[in-house]
Amino acid sequence: MKQLRIGHLYPKLLNIYGDGGNILALKKRYEWRGGEVIVNEINSGESISQNDIYFIGGGQDKQQIEVSRELLANKEFLISERDRGAVFLGICGGYQLFGHYYQPHNGEKLLGISLIDAYTVAGKERFIGNVTAETELFGKKMTLVGFENHSGLTYLQGETKPLGKILIGNGNNGADKTEGGHFKNVFGTYLHGSFLPKNPEFTDCLLELATNEKLEPLDDKTEKNAHDALIGKSY
Ligand code: GLN
Repeated sequence: MKQLRIGHLYPKLLNIYGDGGNILALKKRYEWRGGEVIVNEINSGESISQNDIYFIGGGQDKQQIEVSRELLANKEFLISERDRGAVFLGICGGYQLFGHYYQPHNGEKLLGISLIDAYTVAGKERFIGNVTAETELFGKKMTLVGFENHSGLTYLQGETKPLGKILIGNGNNGADKTEGGHFKNVFGTYLHGSFLPKNPEFTDCLLELATNEKLEPLDDKTEKNAHDALIGKSY
């Protein structure tokens, strides 16, 4: 098995609702198969080296201002990483900055790095609650569960497609019944929780995409119980 390098982008700024748990899920699920994992934390002002997977969590508008500046300073490199086939996962505020911009309620428009063809504008209400969505990504019919807390309304364009269809909750904008977005190997979602520990199948799909390896199944009884406990629940 290859050594898996995970770049954790700006964990000191974007890491609400335990989004760091997504890193643990990726790390442990690859280690449990015998793989070696290196996690590189990238904080403000630090350079970014090549990684197989890049992860960025969610956060408040205030933290997104600094992260927008940092991401823009590394935009060319991160777009080249996308085009090389690196896997990206962004949660909520991080997902919003994968697009062209996020226009908060107050203050200036925060520019994103256009890894995906999408944009976000702050809505009048805050969407808070559990989410169930269904997806057929990677040729697998899966449900995705998590928790959302955002006022941003995200709209997908062009070749950027949803992660899935909303069954319970609001997702991207509470209107078009889409949740998340993906383009090439870039994935974004509004699902906190944290997202990956409760969605083990999706986690393994990302690991297989990043390593180009077929992973042996694990005993996911606990993860599936946590996943199934949320299906169809709004609170
Ligand atoms: N600040 C953004 C919003 O409110 C993102 C919030 C988050 O990451 N949970 O939409």
